[in-house]
Amino acid sequence: MSKIKEYVKFVGADVINELEFYAGKLAGIKIQNINSTSVGGGVAEILARMIPMLRELGINAYWDVIKGGEKFFEITKKMHNALHGQQVTYSDEEISLYLQTNENNAREMKLNGDIMFIHDPQPCALIKYKQGDEQKWIWRGHVDFSNPEMFTWNFLKEYIEQYDASVFSAPSFAHRLRIPQVLISPSIDPLSEKNIDLPQETIDSVLEKFNIDKNRPLVTQISRFDYLKDPIGVVKVYKLVKKYIDCQLVLAGGGATDDPEGAKVLAEVQEVAANDPDIFLLLLPPASDIEINALQRASNVILQKSLREGFGLTVAEALWKSKPVIAGAVGGIPLQVTHKYSGLLTYTIEGTAFALKQLLQNPAYAKKLGENGHEQIRKNFLITRHLRDYLLLFLSLLHKTDNVVFL
Ligand code: UDP
Repeated sequence: MSKIKEYVKFVGADVINELEFYAGKLAGIKIQNINSTSVGGGVAEILARMIPMLRELGINAYWDVIKGGEKFFEITKKMHNALHGQQVTYSDEEISLYLQTNENNAREMKLNGDIMFIHDPQPCALIKYKQGDEQKWIWRGHVDFSNPEMFTWNFLKEYIEQYDASVFSAPSFAHRLRIPQVLISPSIDPLSEKNIDLPQETIDSVLEKFNIDKNRPLVTQISRFDYLKDPIGVVKVYKLVKKYIDCQLVLAGGGATDDPEGAKVLAEVQEVAANDPDIFLLLLPPASDIEINALQRASNVILQKSLREGFGLTVAEALWKSKPVIAGAVGGIPLQVTHKYSGLLTYTIEGTAFALKQLLQNPAYAKKLGENGHEQIRKNFLITRHLRDYLLLFLSLLHKTDNVVFL
């Protein structure tokens, strides 16, 4: 059976037939994806699932990663933080290094897709090297653009507006642009190792490996160690609740090669955690999907206390496992969590602690939230819906001058 048919059990045969139909109209088209890291973070997570699926559908999709030095990634992390609202300044040298690195990559890479699909700010300036009108360029922003620092936004906008289309993850990220903007939310793959069902023995063995007690409540946040994921806030939440409930906390996160800030944030979290034996700070290597899956499944409650968030794949991953989620009401998270229906949305450390205590003390309510969450993800945030949106976007760009596309 072709792999794509395995999704019928989640979404029905009509959805899969439709994907095959659209894909048939794109046969022979080359789709080149470019981002800045092959591991760590949501973008790499999605591309690693999306590219094989597109290929399975007969589309010539491939994925390249730009190269840059340490300084380049420091600058792009600054841009990332600025897009999330932080005030920053750039020296002239930083701006030229950003542009020079894009130029070097353009020279070394073959930019030969019929559709060029560029992800996030790091490779955004590659558009300068577009080859003719036939080639269609899409820029996708994966971060939270609701309140960007304006210099950075205006700087990037100059490049973004040279693309044929832009894609954002949530309606609140829309800005005035001279090119079409498309809203396409990210997704998770129910058949990836991160999300497949696991036997209880596997879950237990992962807990054992990390010395986590399976008989006491477990609260988990999976995230890169990044200030905007507020891991320090999570430790404070845990400490407030720990006074009443003897729970354990897992903060698990690996690094991403395009994120130079992780070690510093981890050191600060270690300091607040102060050797509490019930706090587990797990620095996971790439390809820890089964471990993450097991930790999510073993948890009584999943936190995602982000202060800014593009989408928050970790929320979708937890809800898919029918876990009750408490998450910051930011970015793409409210698309996934309807407050008091498919999870709880919070704004502060105290509010999160209150919600956590409530869910740990009321497992029936927690269970209901998790079940509703699972259905929310099944209907809206599986990779099949994401693929459909992308295929339609590709078709619309290739028929850009037509008002109606007859398939
Ligand atoms: N992730 C991972 N290992 C880690 C931390 C995170 O595999 O140590 C995964 C996580 O399961 C999720 C993705 O990385 O699939 C993070 O995506 P999200 O949208 O939540 O946040 P981002 O890192 O893109 O800001």
